[in-house]
Amino acid sequence: MRINKLTLEGFRNYRGQTLEFDPACNVIHGENAQGKTNLLEAMVYLSCGKSPRTRTERELISFDGGEARIIGEIYSREREFITDITLRAGSRRKMTVNGVAAKNASELSETLHTVFFSPEDLFLIREGAAARRRFMDQSLCQLRPRYARALAEYHRLYEHKTRILRDREENPGLLAMLPDFNEGMCRMGAILIHYRAQYCRALDAYAAPAHGDCSGGREKLKLRYETVKTVVDPFAKTEDIAQNLRDHQQSHYHAELASGLCLSGPHKDDFLVEVNGRSARQFCSQGQVRTAALCLKLADREIHRSAVGEYPVMLLDDVLSELDPKRQEYVLNRISGGQVFITCCENDRLDRLQAGRLFHIRSGEVV
Ligand code: ATP
Ligand code: MG
Repeated sequence: MRINKLTLEGFRNYRGQTLEFDPACNVIHGENAQGKTNLLEAMVYLSCGKSPRTRTERELISFDGGEARIIGEIYSREREFITDITLRAGSRRKMTVNGVAAKNASELSETLHTVFFSPEDLFLIREGAAARRRFMDQSLCQLRPRYARALAEYHRLYEHKTRILRDREENPGLLAMLPDFNEGMCRMGAILIHYRAQYCRALDAYAAPAHGDCSGGREKLKLRYETVKTVVDPFAKTEDIAQNLRDHQQSHYHAELASGLCLSGPHKDDFLVEVNGRSARQFCSQGQVRTAALCLKLADREIHRSAVGEYPVMLLDDVLSELDPKRQEYVLNRISGGQVFITCCENDRLDRLQAGRLFHIRSGEVV
């Protein structure tokens, strides 16, 4: 998959600009606040109808305009597509693919996938388990429709059960419904654990060599799915996983009533990230955290490729600073096989770039 050409009109600080891209590596550089991230944001929007930065569409339209347009010429599955999106303040957006109206954003994903990495993604390593669960959920929902359905159902049951536990004193009659919700959560939870364990194994298989390569062989990354003392073997059959969850739930029945919390299930799980045998969250330096988070995204890109048959477009926002020269060289020259966009600042040294196209952005224009 690749974006051959992108036109932005009235999008953020772009008045009117058409850019033609290299099929492999594109480096976008410029001073702060010139529109580098805005450009990548437009590409993410083209692939899923969502911005990675905001849920408010109005923010994407230029301050002094009423309409924004993103037009992308995309090559995927050996065909050319033109995706045309118009955002209007105060009315519904319009999206077409090759002139045919797209009913919803998921139709955009049929032509283009993007994997976006930004400095904010360091939370993947630094923060608590919720961030890593969100990462797994986002990726698996795109890849496995069965996972997406099980996740939605699990959330629904979780919300109900939480309310029953919370209101148990005012409304003890509701407790009679608990066994049904528990059983549903065990069955759906087992499906989630099954897919997540497989996903983390694939993530580990792809991320570890990329990380070794990127760190010049000095560091070893290890990822492992962790259920919080509930499941004996997350690779077991889903029926066995469900039974483990039932057992855990039964033994924690009184603890759940006392705390008012759901104590067992994949909503408490995590994946462990270790570098050289130690927890990355606790012991990694800033550059190491950046490398580890980047390698998770690169692994996600590989998983997408093996599922879809083509590499998604990789968008790397501001990754170079804080990386040493070896790691910079890896990012610039050795992420191969698909199209890559890298934004960086004026003072990042680009003399390591061996091939590809360089764009200099100033105030929403290529100069
Ligand atoms: P940095 O190197 O600091 O990350 P950047 O080049 O990535 O900078 P962007 O985030 O792409 O910068 O865009 C920055 C500029 O876009 C800001 O100056 C901001 O004011 C402007 N901007 C954001 N939204 C809009 C909008 N809706 N209309 C016009 N300009 C906007
Ligand atoms: Mg930026």
